[in-house]
Amino acid sequence: MKRFRPPGQCPVCGEWVYRGQAACAECGACEKSGWKAEAGYDGLDLPDPDEAFDYEAFVEKEFGGGTERRIGEGKWARVWWWAAVAVLGAMGLALLMSAF
Ligand SMILES: [Zn+2]
Repeated sequence: MKRFRPPGQCPVCGEWVYRGQAACAECGACEKSGWKAEAGYDGLDLPDPDEAFDYEAFVEKEFGGGTERRIGEGKWARVWWWAAVAVLGAMGLALLMSAF
């Protein structure tokens, strides 16, 4: 990673850092902390707002992953199946009613 020197966008949070500024006003990154994204992980335990939300990891953490997830998916598949049947049934009924 190339060295960052103000003025420019803060490599950590993307906020504009003006010429002569010693540290980013938004996230506090500075020459000493290295102007790099890794600094945020090493120091404070704050999530990087630019980091994409890791849905898979979140699900793993929240629901324990594996078996439970598969059961959950099966349940929803059945719900959607019955929803589709209900819609088709209603459409068929409507067609039948309009025919008479
Ligand atoms: Zn910053």
